[in-house]
Amino acid sequence: MKLKDYLGLLAEGGPGFVQLALTNACNAHCSFCSFSRLDSSQWLMAPWERLQQGLAALAAGGVRFLVVTGGEPLLYPHLHPALALARRLGLVTLLCTNGWLLTAEKINLLAEAGVSHLIISIDAATAEAHDTHRGLPGLAAHIRRQLPLVKAAGLVPLPRSPSAAWCRTSSAWEDSWPSWASPWSPFLIRSVSCTPAI
Ligand code: SF4
Repeated sequence: MKLKDYLGLLAEGGPGFVQLALTNACNAHCSFCSFSRLDSSQWLMAPWERLQQGLAALAAGGVRFLVVTGGEPLLYPHLHPALALARRLGLVTLLCTNGWLLTAEKINLLAEAGVSHLIISIDAATAEAHDTHRGLPGLAAHIRRQLPLVKAAGLVPLPRSPSAAWCRTSSAWEDSWPSWASPWSPFLIRSVSCTPAI
């Protein structure tokens, strides 16, 4: 999409941004998330036919930025074709993951499907606490191993913190950014979203 196309959308209040949950299924066990309490028999996946129609409707309606999430979107069976379709429709796609299911092959598939940014949830100042929050021992180390592959594939990694608990207990949370996530650049670290302390 060219600059003049974006400027044209401004008159209509756009370009639009949509966050799309493809599934409620998740492999993690975060105590702060209701999805973690679902039995696999309760997992839902977006119907593929309807998803294709929905993506086309979003593009036609002026949406240009799409954040794909879940649950854990890497569990969605039609993820690769869905992302590729979104890209063909002119959407800039970002994908949000807890990182556990990332592999070199999956990272390359995401890049091939045109994903621009990979948002990985980070919610503790130490690797141990992060793994405990997520209920996935070894997750922080796994994320660290995947980051160079993410960058090599041409995806921009973005950390995000969905945990209000961390923000509440850290008044200067940017200063206490976990060293285990250091492969991210300072610019990207500052782009972390955080639920404000209540
Ligand atoms: S990884 Fe995300 S979707 Fe999964 S249980 Fe944790 S917060 Fe919920």
